[in-house]
This record gives sequence, structure tokens and C-alpha cells, in this order.
Amino acid sequence: MAAIKHRRTALERVEKFLSDTYFTDCNLRGRLFGDRCPPASLSYFQTRRRIPYEEAAVQEFRPTQVGESFGPTWETCWFKVELSIPPAWAGQEVHFVWESDGEGMVWRDAQPVQGLTKEGEKTSYILTRSLKESEPHSLTLYVELACNGLFGAGKGSMIAPPDPDRRVTLSKAELVVFNRDVYELLVDLEILLDMAQLLGEENQRSFQALYTANQMVNVCDVTDLSTLPAARDLAAAIFSQRNGESQHTIHAVGHCHIDSAWLWPYEETVRKCARSWVTVLHLMEHNPELTFACSQAQQFEWVRSRYPGLYARIQDFVAKGQFIPVGGTWVEMDGNLPSGESMVRQFLQGQRFFQEQFGRICSEFWLPDTFGYSAQLPQLMRGCGIQRFLTQKLSWNLVNSFPHHTFFWEGIDGSQVLTHFPPGDSYGMHGRVEEMLKTVKNNKDKGRVNHSAFLFGFGDGGGGPTQKMLDRMKRMSDTDGLPRVQISTPDQLFSVLEKESSQLCTWVGELFLELHNGTYTTQAQIKKGNRECERILHDVEVLSSLAVAQDRAFQYPASQLQRLWRLLLLNQFHDVLPGSCIQLVVEDALQYYTEIRRAGAQLQEEAVQSLCRDLLQPEVRSTPSTLVLNTLSWERTEVISRPGPDGTETLALVTVPSMGYALVQEPFVPPQPVAVRKQEDGSITMENGVIAVCLDTMGHLTSLQLLDSGRESVPDGCYANQFALFDDVPLYWDAWDVMDYHLETRKPVTTLLKPLEITLAGGLRGSVRFSLQVGKSSTLSQEIILDAACPFLRFLTQVEWKEAHKFLKVEFPVQVRSTNATYEIQFGHLQRPTHWNTSWDWARFEVWAHKWLDLSEHGFGVALLNDCKYGASAHRNVLSLSLLRAPTSPDSTADIGHHQFTYAVMPHQGSFQEAGVIQQAYNLNFPLHTVPASCGQCSPWSAFSVSSPAVVLETVKQAEDRPEALVVRLYEAHGSTVTAWLQTSLPVKEAMLCDLLERPLAQGQVPLEQRGLRLSFTPFLVLSVLLLWSH
Ligand SMILES: [Zn+2]
Repeated sequence: MAAIKHRRTALERVEKFLSDTYFTDCNLRGRLFGDRCPPASLSYFQTRRRIPYEEAAVQEFRPTQVGESFGPTWETCWFKVELSIPPAWAGQEVHFVWESDGEGMVWRDAQPVQGLTKEGEKTSYILTRSLKESEPHSLTLYVELACNGLFGAGKGSMIAPPDPDRRVTLSKAELVVFNRDVYELLVDLEILLDMAQLLGEENQRSFQALYTANQMVNVCDVTDLSTLPAARDLAAAIFSQRNGESQHTIHAVGHCHIDSAWLWPYEETVRKCARSWVTVLHLMEHNPELTFACSQAQQFEWVRSRYPGLYARIQDFVAKGQFIPVGGTWVEMDGNLPSGESMVRQFLQGQRFFQEQFGRICSEFWLPDTFGYSAQLPQLMRGCGIQRFLTQKLSWNLVNSFPHHTFFWEGIDGSQVLTHFPPGDSYGMHGRVEEMLKTVKNNKDKGRVNHSAFLFGFGDGGGGPTQKMLDRMKRMSDTDGLPRVQISTPDQLFSVLEKESSQLCTWVGELFLELHNGTYTTQAQIKKGNRECERILHDVEVLSSLAVAQDRAFQYPASQLQRLWRLLLLNQFHDVLPGSCIQLVVEDALQYYTEIRRAGAQLQEEAVQSLCRDLLQPEVRSTPSTLVLNTLSWERTEVISRPGPDGTETLALVTVPSMGYALVQEPFVPPQPVAVRKQEDGSITMENGVIAVCLDTMGHLTSLQLLDSGRESVPDGCYANQFALFDDVPLYWDAWDVMDYHLETRKPVTTLLKPLEITLAGGLRGSVRFSLQVGKSSTLSQEIILDAACPFLRFLTQVEWKEAHKFLKVEFPVQVRSTNATYEIQFGHLQRPTHWNTSWDWARFEVWAHKWLDLSEHGFGVALLNDCKYGASAHRNVLSLSLLRAPTSPDSTADIGHHQFTYAVMPHQGSFQEAGVIQQAYNLNFPLHTVPASCGQCSPWSAFSVSSPAVVLETVKQAEDRPEALVVRLYEAHGSTVTAWLQTSLPVKEAMLCDLLERPLAQGQVPLEQRGLRLSFTPFLVLSVLLLWSH
């Protein structure tokens, strides 16, 4: 008989045949499961801790039943399930079905075997594909059930703070007979239905799929399963109609995005990894073609140490090429805020882990989910053995649609990497027709390349691929009207893209995400912890390296440093450093910073004691003095404070050579003392021979002059150091987003609590203090400090912050006209516009920077420095530093409490490069270290110096696993081509260039000359040099 003529009735007829809601008494879906049987017994116990299986299995289990609920949030229930399979089920496929809220893990014979989550469409554990008499019919399983969902336990919405009282209900626990033929036919029909609906009425394949599906329903008698094969044959006939040669090819790769912490704490992530990955292995055993790309060395390390049996199986599948480590980094870190050296360490720790564990490093950087990507990343990737990059987050841009999915990305130094965004704009695909069609339709580089990535599997909170996803894609492998789909690997995809790359376009500069700009500021204590701990580890490495040079008996603390670096790198995860995590995660992160500070201080003390032993040993007739150490690569003359004879702090002016030390020399007469004067109107002036400032009673900077030129920085009638409070209510992503409209709610802070008063009258240091009320109940007090010989004015700020949904900034209107401002990024800087001409310009109303930003016109400029802030903006002639936010989701307590931070303003002649803004920002962030010494005399000592101010020697560390060598890392910071000499007083016999993984470069030998090592730089080039000890 002819097919029916009415499209809609045909479509809906097939829909109802598949429905799990309607007509299940007589449709195909209702036949998916056959006989059922409850467990022989079900018992449980509950614990607040996340305990290993061995500890759980010996607890006392109490009887329970389906329908019970368990909790509250973050607790764990262990269930003991005794099963007895009816012998009558011989020859049948038998599943253990478990449906509950929460995240479950099935344990069998003391090993994890299957993750269970309703949200991740994993509710059954396959006991047998065909029950044999010889198989055990009675068995005991354990189910470890975490009382939190895949996405934590948000109360009312996903990103709301967790509901502490959530309970999970066990709704099903039973043995069932699974009718695989019914399942296969369901998958066939779902795909045909999708093709019929999604290809649309203008497409003849749509009708072919529809009429085939309709005919299949006709031939299928659900009461007689022997009619199913005939229906399946009809489907196979249409699926096997092939594409033409030009069809697009989709490279499907299994994936499971697991945030290392987010709406759940780090400790739960350990279990998420195990649950997700054991499920992947189970799938691989039955689907030898399945590939799975897995990033984040930290997560492998967690599973290695907590689940050794599972890890051994993972290693087997890695060896087979199915389980594929990708990314090369320790975690999928934030792409904006970590320092250049931190980013290097993400790769160094990651790649070394992958090399050690799996015998190879990763060839692609994998960062699908962070909130923007630094323009220095291409060079860092290439330095770490990586020339390929996969991400997709720019699909979240709120304003502008990024113009490419496959392109070359060029960084600030000119390095390029082949970059691919899966065009389906997701890393959690389900293998559906709709996603395949979107992948082709949405691809912005059609005609340039004909291949693209498709990452399938539940993600963010783990979960991963399912059998159904694979079964869908098998049917779509090459079906006319749909793109070709092949299970593939990142390497296969990038290899073919490299071959096709001749027509690709290039994107130069940062990949700025036009969303989530609040993450540069949210959770200020985490930001501060990051900046401080980056400094601490830098200093410990420098001082320990110098100590090794001075004393061969000194043990470089390599393993302690690795441990501390890994804590710091973990906290750089893309929901922790950005501050978009729950309170439990914040507490963990702050505790890790505390540990780095504590252990770092001790390591630094040990290094200094060894480095300067002779100067610190008490001697007879010794003169107490102060030793000052400088961990930066230029000479510094600064005012320091040191303990005086009566326990008070006294000031001294000291000159310390680059990466070295000196004793404080008395008397310290500043070239020009700081003068502080109170005016009749209550305002106060301070000057130090370099700059002269005037502050009104509210702490506003009404004048900031560069004395040499007499040039004024503050425009007439304007106030710099003006605090402003903004309403900060985003559309949804609270901790993440600050919206453009917040700028329209600006309210200057005008309530004075204590007017400006002088706290230090001048000499080596002058300072003044005042305090303000901010908002309804917050207070801010500030000490403004001017040191002798110092080119910047420092603002030491304390805030008691008690706001909700407010944003505090400080503004510096300056008398400078420029269409671009400059911002420091990792190992360099870049410019962004100060105007809002185009949508691309105004979408950057809030941007990120590291230690400084600068607005300059020819010959003059003003820089704003900071010691722990990242959010900033420069609109027209106003520089703003973003200080504090107060989102309430996902952490309702975010940023409430005490804060201390410092920023500084530095007017300068010439360019910021000539004026030394870069060095001054380092100086602000890396204070000189002072140590009481017992020796009156010692010549200043320098370990390293660099001849060019354009070149920064950033890092000095022991080479990994090579106690006989140091690694030093330098970069060109001005954006210039320059040759520099690196001088060292250390006993070095040989020098060679190496990459960022510390692998020597071919022809990398650098001769040791009288003047040191001659190094050539192009703009923003990062160079690493291995130095071999001569002793
Ligand atoms: Zn993520």
C-alpha cells in the first residue's frame, strides 16, 4: 500500500511508537525491558567522609529499600546489594538497573566497575549479554552513592549556592531482562525521525527517512519480537545509502569534561574521575573503536594514587591508543590570569607527567572551557612541544561572533598554532543528528577545510560517553544527507587539518571572551593568593639556586617545590582562580595558599641561611646590620623597613645589585628627602624630587606632577584615586559576569569617615591616611605612601567589605590622550582600544591585566601598578582598576570580609619602556627581603645581571631531574629586537638554549664569553638557557 500522505501524522505516529510517556503499553519503548526481579537483599550505611572501598566494605550495613531517601548533601551512602538471577533467564541479557539521585559507583570484587548517574544517562550495569548456566547467578555488588548531583547541589538553580539539606532518593534497584533487538530498533527509528524532522521539507532525504520509519512501524509487531529484524533491514537500507566524495567529515572523539573543582570540592572530583573513566573503560571493552580524549595530569594523578587497579587498566587502554591523554597541562587552567611562568609550569608539570606515565608528551593544547586565552599562549605552547590547540569557549561571546572555527592563531611574538573550535560549539555532544547538522552548518571555515571535531560525552561534572551515543554515530557513519561521522582521535583530526591548512586565515592577538569579565575580580583572596604564591615560589627558586652555587652541600628543595607548584597550579583551574566556585572550594584553595606561604617561607629561610651563612653567623665584636636580598634581575635602590634597636621598625635606603644582596650602608642619605606639607584647606602635598602630589581631605589626588618636566598628570578639575561603586547585577552568571550596563550605575564614593592626616612626616618616607564609607556598610582606609627616590605613589588599602552585588573600582583620570592603552600580560604586553567605536571595542569594557597598565601619548604617560588585582579598564582618559565584587552565586559569602591590597600610580616621561614601568611593577610585587646580619662589612654580590633593560630575567631554577644544571628564563619585555648579555658570577662551565620543557635545542650551544652569554631577542621572545655547573 502507498505511504500515507500527511507528513505530520506520519511523524507523530513514529514519535508515539518511541515515546516513553504515551502508549507504552503497546509501543516499542514499552518492550525495552522484559522480566524484572528485585534484589535478594539491600542494605546500606552512611558516612560524612569519602572513604576507600576497603574501609566501606567492613562497615555494618543496615537494611533499606527502594523509595528511601538518603543525605544530606556531600554525605556518602554505601549500599550492599545481593542479587540472585532467576535461572529461567538463561540466554537473556541481564542488567542491574539503579535509578537514584546523586552520583553512584558500582563496585564488584573490590574493584570499581561502572559509574551510575541518571543525569548522565547511566542507570544500568550490564551483568551478562547472554546468561549462561556456568555464570554465577548469585553475586554481591556495592554501590557507593555520593549525595550530590553531576552539577553539585545548587538550591533552586544550578549555580545557586549548594543546598546543605538535599536528600537523594533511591527510586529503582532491580534485575531486568534487556531486549537488545528492541533497543537497536529504537535507535534506528530515533535517527530516522530526527532526519525526517531536521532535514526539513525541502530535502528529499527527510521524506525518505520518514516513509522508511513509517513502514518500519507497519512491519513491526511489538507482541512478536521476531518481526523486528525485517524493520531493522529497512533502516539498514537507508543508512547504507552513501554520500558523495565532497561530504564533510566529522571526527568524533569521546570526551568527559571534568571541572577539577566547581560546584563540588576537589575531593569529589577525585571520585568523579573514577566514576567517569571506569565507565569509559567498560564501553571500550565492548566498543574497540571508541576513543576518549582525557586532559589534566592532576586528574590522572588522583586516579593513580587512589584507584591503582583502575589506573593500571587505563594505562592498558592508553597503550592501545583508545584512552588518549591530551592537553599537556597540569590542569585546564584559567587562560588569562596565571603568570607567564605559571603557564610554563602548567605545561612542564603536565608534559613531564604524561611522558613519565605514558611514554609521550601531548601534541595539542586542550582548553575547551576557560574564559579567554592570552596572546602569549601560542609561543608557550610551541615551547612545550605543542603546535595544535583545541577550544570552543569563544562561542559564548555575548556581542561578536568569532569569525573562525579553524584558523592559525598568532601570539604577540609571532608564534602560530593551528587552532580548532569544534563547530558544534560544545564539548559535550550526544551523537544526535541535530548536532551533526549544526557542526556542518555552523562551521565558519566551510570551503577552507572539510573536517571538524565532535566531542561527545556528558561533561563539566563528569559522566562521559554512553553506548547510545556510539550506536547513533555508527548508523551515521556515511549516510547520504548527513555529514560523514568517524570515531577519530585529536591527532587524526589535526593531521588532516594540517594538510588542508593552505587556505586558512590567521587571527592575531588575544582570544578575548566577551563574557565572564567579572572573573578577573571575583574572590579577591584567591587572586591575591595566586599572585603572592607565584612570587613566593619565584623567590624560593632564585634563592635556592644561588644557595646551591654558594654551597654544594645545599640541597635544592626540588620535591618540595614540585609539591607546592602543583598546589598552585591546581588552584589555577578554570573555576577556582576565576572565582566561579562554591564556598567549599574557596576554603580548600585558601588553605592550599596558606600551605604554600608556610612551606615557602621555610624554604626561603633555609636558602637564605645557606646563601649568606658567613654574614649571618654571630661574630665577636660584630656590628648588627641588615642584609638585603633582591630576587629581580636589575639593581634596585629602595627604602626598606627593618627592625630597629628597640623593636620598632626603622627605615633605610639601600641599593641592592641584581639577583644578589648587599648590606645596608649607613648613613643613608637620600638624594632628596620626601617633603610632606599640610595646606590651609586641609589638603596635603608630598614630593620626593621625582614626583609631587597634592591630596585633598578625601584622599583624592588633585595633582600629580613629574618634577623634571613640570608635567601635570591629573586633568584640571578632576580627581584621581576616585573610588566608585557600581550596581553589579548580571543576567545569570553571577560570579562570572559583569555586564556593560553596570557602567551606567556609577556612584562616586563621597562619604568621609576620617579626613586626610599625615602619618609619616617625610625624610625617607612620607605618608598620609584617611578613611571612607563605601556603600551602606563597608569601609575603606588607605595609607598613601611616597618613598625617597621612588617614581610612584603607593596606595596601601584596607577594605571591610560587606556588600552584595556591588562592584568597587578606583579611577585615575589622566591628562593623556591616546586611542590605545597598554596592559601587561604573560611575558609581555598588548594594547587595547580606549574608545568604543565598534562592537569589538565596546565588548572589551572590562579587561584583564597583570602587574600594570599604562596610558601614554608621545613622550609622556601614566601607569597604574598593582600587587594582586587583574581586572581593569581604560576608557578615553580614565584608567580604572577593579577592586572588589560581591556576587552571591555560587558562593553566597564571596568576598565578604577584610581585604588588603596595594596599587600605585606612576607618571613618566618618554615611553613606559624607557621609563622602566615594567621594572617598577616588578619591584612593587617582589619586595626586597631583609635579614638581620651580624657583619658590618661585605661587598654587594650579584649572581646574574642582564645588560639590556628590554630583557627580563624572570626565572632561575634547578633543571628538572638535573642537579648539575640550572635553567634561567628570560624574555624580551619592550617589544623590540635586541641583543643582551647575561652575566653571571656563578661557577658555570657550559650554556645551551633549551625549550620550555628544558630539552636542549639543536645547535643551542651558547659560548661563555668575557661579557657573559650573548642572547638575541625578537619582540616578546622567551628564551630558556641551561647552565651547567662547573663544580
Ligand atoms: Zn570547565
